[in-house]
Amino acid sequence: MTMPLLEVRNLTKRFGGLAAVNDVSFSVEEGEILSLIGPNGAGKSTLFKLISSFLHASSGKVVYRGEDITSMSPHHVARKGIVRTFQETTIFRNMTAIDNVVVAHHLQSTASLTGFFFGTPAARRDEARFRESAAEILDYLGLGDVKEMQASTLPHGYLRALGIAIGMAARPKLLLLDEPFAGMNSDETQHAMRMVRGIRGRGVTVLLVEHDMPAVMSISDRIVVLNFGKKIAEGVPAAIQADEAVIEAYLGREDEEVGF
Ligand code: ADP
Ligand code: MG
Repeated sequence: MTMPLLEVRNLTKRFGGLAAVNDVSFSVEEGEILSLIGPNGAGKSTLFKLISSFLHASSGKVVYRGEDITSMSPHHVARKGIVRTFQETTIFRNMTAIDNVVVAHHLQSTASLTGFFFGTPAARRDEARFRESAAEILDYLGLGDVKEMQASTLPHGYLRALGIAIGMAARPKLLLLDEPFAGMNSDETQHAMRMVRGIRGRGVTVLLVEHDMPAVMSISDRIVVLNFGKKIAEGVPAAIQADEAVIEAYLGREDEEVGF
């Protein structure tokens, strides 16, 4: 029997009287792409923040590789390999794409960061290693051709990919992506989907929050559906598409685009 990479057990987060996440349980298996979907306000981002410890649960548990990480600091959780990319990751716009990813590598290691400023031989060795790793990450994310370009000159879709490259510098085991395809045209979405598959192909488990239904249906191994903080369905894409409760949840909202 294999242990799930991540288990969310009866997780609840209350904001005053509102249960933004309400008794949610599911697990994420190593190597899968699992998507979290649901109408606006369903609790998806809150759940991400609970998993990455940017918020602390009112009750319930987050268990990672068998270890209870519910009340760990976000920093500690990131060190363990759970990395969340933000919709607007900090990108140094006056630096090249590759330098951004090199700096992200240095930030991973305090020793290296200190050495970096003092120019120690060890830090110079790290620098070469980090540059090689950064180039490799940019290559497999499809940014190899623009790696020497200044970040400020990159088109929007590339900047988004650079944000993910910066996240990958932390060598995540579980990558949390919050709406990576938002605002992309269909070419950009196709490219970004290849990127997410490439990340998984490198042994990284992916937990995705996304509104683009065709993309979600095509890329996910499994899907968990939230509505008003509650889990209403869980399963493979074909089952989710046919699920009455899911259809009802989406059809009940006139402001939602449902592209099933
Ligand atoms: P989603 O990402 O699915 O759109 P969120 O997790 O952002 O949903 O929000 C879920 C619910 O919790 C919403 O009703 C939202 O208004 C509320 N909420 C989120 N964050 C806070 C907060 N910091 N304080 C109070 N209410 C919040
Ligand atoms: Mg959200």
